Parts: sequence; structure tokens; C-alpha cells
Amino acid sequence: MDRQVVGLIILLNAIAAGVLYQRFHDHPQVQLLESRALELYHKLLPPSQPDRCGALKWPSYVITSDHVVFPDGVRPGAVFIEGNKIVAVSENTSVDSPHTLNFKDAVVAPGVIDVHIHLNEPGRVEWEGIWNGTRAAVMGGVTTVIDMPLNSNPVTTDVVQLEAKKRAAKVKAWTNVGFWAGLVPENAANHTLLGQLVEAGALGFKSFMCNSGINDFGNVGGDDIAAALPFLKSRGVPFFVHAEVVSSVDSDPAADPTAYATYMATRPPKFEQDAIRLLIEKLDADTTPAAPGFRVHIAHLADSGSLAMIKEAQARHPLTVETCAHYLTFSAEGIPNGKTQYKCAPPLRDAANRAALIAAVASGAIDLVSSDHSPAPPSLKEVDSGNFLKAWGGISGVQYLLPATWTALEAAGGSLSDLVRLLSEAPARLAGLGGSKGRIAPGYDADLVVFEPGSPANTSVAVNLHTHKLSPYTDVPLKGKVVAAVVGGELTSMYGHLNKKPCGRLQLKRDD
Ligand SMILES: [Zn+2]
Repeated sequence: MDRQVVGLIILLNAIAAGVLYQRFHDHPQVQLLESRALELYHKLLPPSQPDRCGALKWPSYVITSDHVVFPDGVRPGAVFIEGNKIVAVSENTSVDSPHTLNFKDAVVAPGVIDVHIHLNEPGRVEWEGIWNGTRAAVMGGVTTVIDMPLNSNPVTTDVVQLEAKKRAAKVKAWTNVGFWAGLVPENAANHTLLGQLVEAGALGFKSFMCNSGINDFGNVGGDDIAAALPFLKSRGVPFFVHAEVVSSVDSDPAADPTAYATYMATRPPKFEQDAIRLLIEKLDADTTPAAPGFRVHIAHLADSGSLAMIKEAQARHPLTVETCAHYLTFSAEGIPNGKTQYKCAPPLRDAANRAALIAAVASGAIDLVSSDHSPAPPSLKEVDSGNFLKAWGGISGVQYLLPATWTALEAAGGSLSDLVRLLSEAPARLAGLGGSKGRIAPGYDADLVVFEPGSPANTSVAVNLHTHKLSPYTDVPLKGKVVAAVVGGELTSMYGHLNKKPCGRLQLKRDD
């Protein structure tokens, strides 16, 4: 290379390092970034604890802020981290340690746990994979994801397939990763096989009550659910259900397939209501005593009209319900013709329904919010034709889960503690991780998000880390700028930059 070019590169790197140093002047020992500039920065400050995975090389350190979301409220505080654990907390922020990151006015909260994400690995990484999906997640403040058993190929319905997922996640995950196993007609009555999946670490099971879109992942009927319930209840594991039962609808065959309303008419609220009614009937009919940890969890509720039925059944059964950030952010009226990035199932419904879902999230009638991040290549999203009827149903958005949920919740009068309940505490409990995640308290895992609730999130496509950039969230004004994410004690992202390598851990079922 020409010497002048080399000189220019060195100069540019030196300038970049200077800018970075200025940026990090509050945290002079933070060692971050993938860029060449950071390489230089690393050379300036050699690590003192090289076996640490994350950007900080201190064996222990302290995070302070004027707004720490503790289980009983938001206060100034200090969080003491050693290894992968929170070892102490304090309300005194004047910490006498050189190994302190003071985030001042930004909020420090338990990391977001997304219990509903499709990483599609192995087999369909061209849709989304562990590497890209978890990088996007951690950039958005998500520190743990629980992966769905379908869209990967093969699907996760036996131990061999679960082990393949574990192997892949072990080396590629930027967040902690757990797994739901598939409950399908082939294994619903095979309690030995279901038990083996739990022994191998599956946190629970997922079923579809309608066509899943993946031929190898068949949908269950009432008899399959009845056959599986005694196992699920006695073993004490959650049962995650896509609750739609499809029946015939009066749809106009001549309707314009590029109009969103045409698609919406094909999946009315009745489908969700019929499925939830059937689930409740099966719960009413089963007399097996339920061990702690068992619950039926209704995935991605889109129909606010189902909430009364769910509430009534909750008096008799451990029944929980989630909605997704996109149902809180978008409604049918605002979807332009041909924009299939808005297609998901159940469908986005009207604005009144969206308002009712937001109110239910704020009041606690809906237990938690997930992303249901489920992208597909542009050809499968029918980007060119804009045909809603043919397009793959799945929304890309794990990176926006926190800001989208916060924007809707805050507008409805919700608090930071409500946000943590919806995105961390309740998801941890559902996944059986409530004893180690979802709270800032001594003994809990050091999974943290730092964010500025009043600042705009960056939703530009330039910082979208998903495999496919097509997302309805692009350029949507959302509040909640993620500043940093700590995964198992390891500083993994900060100020829009990622650590040099992934530090996530597997989250497997443990009986304790
Ligand atoms: Zn899903």
C-alpha cells in the first residue's frame, strides 16, 4: 500500500480514537467497539482481566444512576456486579471505586427478556439467525431471548434437534438464549419424549392451533391438547399457544390483495376467541394437579375482545397472556397498500382495538409484551407484488421491543416499574427464570439495560441489525434510547456500539 495512504489511515484512526475517547471520557476504561478505531483504543488501555468476555475487563464493577428500577420502585442507586451476578445494591450512589460506570440521568433496569422470537437456526438462517437476531436484540436492550421451535429446519420437536440449537447458540449468541420445544400431533401423547425435551433443557412447549406456515410443524387439535395437559401440569412447565382456530369466513374473492383490509378480513377476532374458548374447555376438563411452573400462555393476543374470557378463566386456571409491541404501535387504518412488512398473524386490528390492548397492558390485564420477531426474505414477504394474501406473516422488530412498548405504555400513563413488569419480571416468571432474572437484587443475574426514556430511539434502517432490514418500525418515532446492555455481567453494547464478541449463555430448564 502507498505510504501516503497508510499515513492517512493511521491519521483517520487516530482522529476516530480521539473522538471515541472524548465520547467515553466519563468511562475512560471502557473498551468497546468492533471498529479499527477501537483496536487502537484497546492498545492504549490493555485489559487487566483478559478472561472477561465483555468490553469491561474489571473482575468486579459498579453501575450507578439517578434512576435504578428496583423491585419496589425507582430510586438513585448503585448495582455491584461480580462475575455474572449482582452481588449487592445500594441507594448510596457515591461509590468509592475506580471501577464505576455512572450513567447519571439514564435509567438502569433489568435487561429485557423476549419470550417470543424466531431465530430459525439451524436451517433457515437466511430468514434470521442466532448471530444477527441476538445482535439486534442486545442493541435494543434485550438481554435474554427464548427461541421458538419452528422456522428452524428441522423443527425443534425432539432432543436431537434441541441439541443442535444449543450447540449453535453456545457460540453465536449475543444475548442469553433459552428454547421452547415444539408440541405437535406426533409427540403430544408421548410423555416420555416430552420429558426428554425438558431434561435436555427446554423451558416449556409451544403449539399452534392453526396452520403454522411450516409444513413440518403441524397444528394441534383439542384431543392433542387434552393428551398433553397431564404431562405439562404434573411436570410444571409452561404451554405456549398460538391461539387461532381457523374456520370459513365470508371473504370477497375479488377483493384487492394489496389492500391490508383484504388480509384482515380473512382472520377475524372470532378465530382467536374460538381457540381461547377451546383451550379453557380443555383446562376445565383436566383434573391433573398442576405443579408450580405450569401455565397456559396465550401468545401474541391481537383481539382485545378476548380479554374478558381470559380474565374469567384466570380465576380457575394458571392462564397468562401476552401481546406484542406491534399490536401496541400500529393499527390497520395506517397500513398503506402493498406494505407487507405489517403482515403478521393474528393480524393487526383497528385503532380502537389497539387502544384497548394498550389499556390492558397498562392495567396488568395483559401479563407481558414480546416481539414475536419473525422476519423472512423479501421474496417471501412478496415485497415486489405487495400481495398481503401470499406474503409470509411475520414482523421484524426485536430491536424495537423496548422503545415501542415504552412509547405506548408511557402515553397511557404507565411507569418505568410497569415497563419492567411487562418486559422483564413477567417474562422471567413465565420461562421459569424468575429466581435468577428480571430483577435488580442481590443474587440475581447481572442482566441490565440502560436507557434514556425521554430520548428518541434510533429507528433508521442504518442501525437496524436484523438480517432483513424490512420492518414496519423503520423511521417510526419511538421514545426510549438504549444506551447500554449488560449480559451476564458482561458489558455488551454501549452508545450504539457492540462488544467485539458474543457473551450470551444458554438458559436451560433447571429444577430448583
Ligand atoms: Zn411467533
